[in-house]
Amino acid sequence: MNDIILLKQGEMVLKGLNRKSFEMRLCGNVRRRLERFGKFNIYTTQSTVYVEPKDDSCDMDGAFEAVQKIFGIVSVSRAAACAKDKDAIFETAKSYLGDAMRAAPTFKVESKRSDKAFPMTSIQLSQYVGGLLADAFPDTKVDVHNPALTVTVEVRDFAAYVHGTPVPGAGGMPLGANGSVVSLLSGGIDSPVSTYMAAKRGVSVIPVHFFSFPYTSEQAKEKVIELARILVDYCGRMTLQIVPFTHIQEEIHDKCPEEYFTVIMRRFMMRIAEKIALDNRCAAMITGENLGQVASQTMEAMAVTEACVSVPILRPLICLDKNDIIVAARKIGTFDTSILPYEDCCTVFTPRHPRTRPKLQDVEAAESVLDVDALVREAFENIERVKIER
Ligand code: ATP
Ligand code: MG
Repeated sequence: MNDIILLKQGEMVLKGLNRKSFEMRLCGNVRRRLERFGKFNIYTTQSTVYVEPKDDSCDMDGAFEAVQKIFGIVSVSRAAACAKDKDAIFETAKSYLGDAMRAAPTFKVESKRSDKAFPMTSIQLSQYVGGLLADAFPDTKVDVHNPALTVTVEVRDFAAYVHGTPVPGAGGMPLGANGSVVSLLSGGIDSPVSTYMAAKRGVSVIPVHFFSFPYTSEQAKEKVIELARILVDYCGRMTLQIVPFTHIQEEIHDKCPEEYFTVIMRRFMMRIAEKIALDNRCAAMITGENLGQVASQTMEAMAVTEACVSVPILRPLICLDKNDIIVAARKIGTFDTSILPYEDCCTVFTPRHPRTRPKLQDVEAAESVLDVDALVREAFENIERVKIER
């Protein structure tokens, strides 16, 4: 019960007048994520969010792991609370950080004092607690310049807190603080990473998947649902929009020149995604496109792709190397699912020689044989919505 979690706010501390609303959103996000680990008091003051268990039934290990995936937090510490008294602080440090002290060759104590009524300065408190700890753990030497363990003491309004080295938080900004986007989520490696990156910048995400049954299988759909489920840890609950895409792809295949199949197909994706965006008050669309990766991702092809919509398309991965995207996919835990070998609709009817530098008027002429509005409407009206939760 005296074990609490401290979350240091990230760059939102730089916000001026908006700061309060960012903080409220962050606390709401923390509250929602921790619901399943028990009942907590969650509040924020002095750039820190406090997570206090209300009773002994709380799963503190589960909560500690979950908060490391919440955006808007730069570092996370598990801390012991105690009375604001120098000897209570030492006793707490000795018992709570005993194992860490024994394991570390060197240590130092760092104190922060936001309660200015506390009778010692930060330096005095550090020296006092550090001296007693050095006596209690004679094998661990004091090193104030490059310690293996930093014992942090924070004297705050209601209590003092003692913790060891914090672990990094997820960074970014609180989810929802920067509005909402539609994210085009395929089963590949890239788009789960671009979705994660958007969420990291504080954007709520509505994932959209284009599905071409029977050209793409039920397993391909399950794979995308699974990817979305992995992303829930970062993005919160989402509703995946599965757009039936078969009729559109067959029409393109039957009526358009092969060299333009992919770019025309991608224009349909954008039109439908735009309708979903407007329907859900999303200010932008996100893709996992990456400059030069495939024929449809040259600058010219992307310009033709986006020329049919007015909602902006954001491409978080545009200048990353594939290797860096793979590193990110492994880190967020989507990589192993992404490489399962189920086909995506992009690889159905792939042209043998796609145009890498398509011209807009040629593509518009090529697709003019299609009833674009009717096809878009038909797909939009038959969207399947799947709630994605943990
Ligand atoms: P990924 O690894 O994300 O599949 P990719 O390199 O295979 O990317 P493409 O298949 O050309 O690239 O797709 C580029 C982007 O278009 C994807 O990152 C994704 O945002 C979007 N996209 C592609 N296929 C689909 C789909 N079936 N449903 C939703 N979005 C898609
Ligand atoms: Mg793909």
